[in-house]
Formats: sequence, structure tokens, C-alpha cells
Amino acid sequence: MRLRNIPGSRDVIAESEYVIHDHRAVKGCWENVFGNDKPIRIEIGMGKGRFICELASLHPEINYVGIEKYSSVLLRAIQKQEENQFPNLKFIRMDAEEIAEVFAKDEVDRIYLNFSDPWPKDRHAKRRLPSRQFLSRYDQFLKKDGVIEFKTDNRVLFDYAVEEAKEAGWKIDEITYDLHNDPKMNEGNIMTEYEERFSQMGNPIYKYIISR
Ligand code: SAM
Repeated sequence: MRLRNIPGSRDVIAESEYVIHDHRAVKGCWENVFGNDKPIRIEIGMGKGRFICELASLHPEINYVGIEKYSSVLLRAIQKQEENQFPNLKFIRMDAEEIAEVFAKDEVDRIYLNFSDPWPKDRHAKRRLPSRQFLSRYDQFLKKDGVIEFKTDNRVLFDYAVEEAKEAGWKIDEITYDLHNDPKMNEGNIMTEYEERFSQMGNPIYKYIISR
């Protein structure tokens, strides 16, 4: 369930030191944001942030940026980060349609898309985060050897994403139609909030890793 209307969430976000407030101002300047030149990995549509918080905890040698459109969901991620205070984790509240305004060429080495909204109507296809329109945005700032990792329990969205990746000239490096029973791809898997919920219902989880 999405929590879109928590009173005061915008105020908390506006005052949070963990949030990048002027996301256009940091393009090309991420070394200043984190105070180091460690690789940057981003999750787009991170929801309440469990996945990216766990990554930040496990990998202090990597910097992470979580991107989320809705304040009331981002608030949950900020609350987690206030407890943990990982120096390698920042958040941005924004619509990912503007993502190419945030990172310069080669500034990101991995993009995570987890349980992205399916936007089932054809006329909304370009809003899907693994669509060709989004892939061409990611192409502008993902390192040459960078990858996109996408997982979902929605087979229609997954099949669409695979086709879009091929159409846009990306290579499918790895793919599974049952992540939790795929020993190789499931190794080190970090569950997202949605992944836990849907896998408990018995849904298989689909995942690809793509590169150019
Ligand atoms: N990744 C989380 C997980 O797996 O538990 C949340 C999945 S939830 C279905 C999708 C999230 O993506 C929502 O929080 C939604 O607000 C966010 N989202 C969808 N489209 C977005 C966009 N264009 N820009 C930023 N966030 C977006």
C-alpha cells in the first residue's frame, strides 16, 4: 500500500540532510556530494528504501542514491537512514523522467529497478521505468560497462522489459524466471518490500541484468 498523504512529510524531506534538495545542481558534482569518488549506484522507484539501505550497509565502498517520486514513501526511507546514518546513502524526491538532469555521462555504474509500476495501459507505456524511453535516459549517464538490474513479479511487464531492452540494442547478460530458485542469480539477493510480499504469496520473481 502506498502512503501518499502523511501530513508533514514534505517538511521532513525539506529539512533532511540525507536528501539532495536541488537535484539539477549536482549533475557532474557527485564527488562533492559524497566527498569521495567511489562508484555510484542508484535505485529508481525505491519505495520505502529497505533494499538500498541494506546495500549501503553491506557496501561502504559504494555510494548509493535512492530516487522516489512520492514524499510519504520517501519519508519511510529517511526514517531508516536517520537510524543508520550511512555516509554512502542519499535520496532524491523526483519523477525519474528528469533523471538525465541529475547525473552526468559515466557518473553511475549500476541502476536498480525493483518492482516498477506496471502502467498496464498501452498509452502509458513510456512511463514504465524499463521502457525504451527510460533506457535512452539511462544511456546518457550509465558507465560504458555499467548494468541495469530489474526484478518484478509481473510477467507481462517483464516480457515487455525484455523486448524493450532488445529493441533498444541492450544485451541480456543474465535472466531468470524464478529468481529465488536460481542458485546463481539469487546469490546475495536482497529482498525489497514488494519482493517479500509477492514471493510470500507464491509468485515467482523475474530478473534480468542488461548492458550495452
Ligand atoms: N522498489 C520498491 C520495492 O520493490 O519494494 C517499491 C516498489 S513500488 C511498486 C514502485 C515505486 O516506484 C513506488 O514507490 C513509486 O512511487 C515509485 N515510482 C514509480 N514511478 C516513478 C518515477 N517515475 N519516478 C520516481 N519514482 C517512481
